[in-house]
Amino acid sequence: MGNHPTISVVAPVFNEEAILPEFYRRTSAALDKLGEPWELVLVNDGCRDRSPEIMVELHARDPRVKVVNFARNFGHQVAITAGADYARGDAVVVMDADLQDPPEVIPDLLAKWREGFEVVYAIRSERKGETWFKEFTAKAFYRIIYRITDIDIPMDAGDFRLMDRKVVDALKTMREKHRFMRGLSVWVGFRQTGVKYARAERFAGETKYPLKKMLRFALDGITSFSYLPLQVATYVGFVAAGLAVLGIIATIILRLSGSEAFYGQATTLVSVLFLGGVQLISLGIIGEYLGRIYDEVKGRPLYIVREALGFEEA
Ligand code: UDP
Ligand code: MG
Repeated sequence: MGNHPTISVVAPVFNEEAILPEFYRRTSAALDKLGEPWELVLVNDGCRDRSPEIMVELHARDPRVKVVNFARNFGHQVAITAGADYARGDAVVVMDADLQDPPEVIPDLLAKWREGFEVVYAIRSERKGETWFKEFTAKAFYRIIYRITDIDIPMDAGDFRLMDRKVVDALKTMREKHRFMRGLSVWVGFRQTGVKYARAERFAGETKYPLKKMLRFALDGITSFSYLPLQVATYVGFVAAGLAVLGIIATIILRLSGSEAFYGQATTLVSVLFLGGVQLISLGIIGEYLGRIYDEVKGRPLYIVREALGFEEA
């Protein structure tokens, strides 16, 4: 089967043993209907369950299933990157392996691609089976990032999207470590459009994005595309200095008129604590950026592959 695939589907996999067989069944059924050569690139992001064995079985049964085995868990965004690096299709579709992104939407994405669009992202018009907390924080996050970044990251679009070969090749030149793929794929430009879909419930298992990872992810998104947090210190500094000048003037007037206001330690204590807090927060914000700069400077590869299955004949 030396067939050059028209469509590559990339799915990152982290401990999804309960889902993989059904994911393969539904995805291959949806792709077979298109009547074009395709490949399914599964990225094993350091799974600790039976997922790797299942992936090898799927590859043995259907050579269109290809597997990239990471040497450890590198995270969702890096797994997507690796999948896109290995994919050979003219169009590359990125989707989650938990069937929250329905494979049946792929033909819609493809139709837009055929119309000439080079990035077709899938917009969640509805989310099923998510907690109100996840829904609320996700909505807030997309609105914040939309406002404070210079690029128009589409609201309520996840990583589920189709990218033309040209876009994938452009992404290959962008090797930053803290990757926010849904921002990068907008940053590159090209003709972009969206398609609406209803986001399904997770088919089985539980989310691999606990709160801590979600916060990291949100910070990566913001720091990748905005300097606003760094500038906040400047603004707060101007406001605090302005208030201090007013305070000095007020104190002089009160003293000259013989008032006893502003004696006592409470005012001193409160202002020292307040400014100390603001300074530490500003340092922390600088630290977030500094740590990311350090990660870039080290120049380590984005991921380490132990073994890749099915890419030989290409
Ligand atoms: N995933 C991954 N590495 C990770 C965490 C998640 O490859 O460290 C995969 C996971 O297997 C799934 C996709 O990324 O295919 C999305 O994760 P999940 O469904 O847990 O996130 P949620 O939909 O809850 O935001
Ligand atoms: Mg999910």
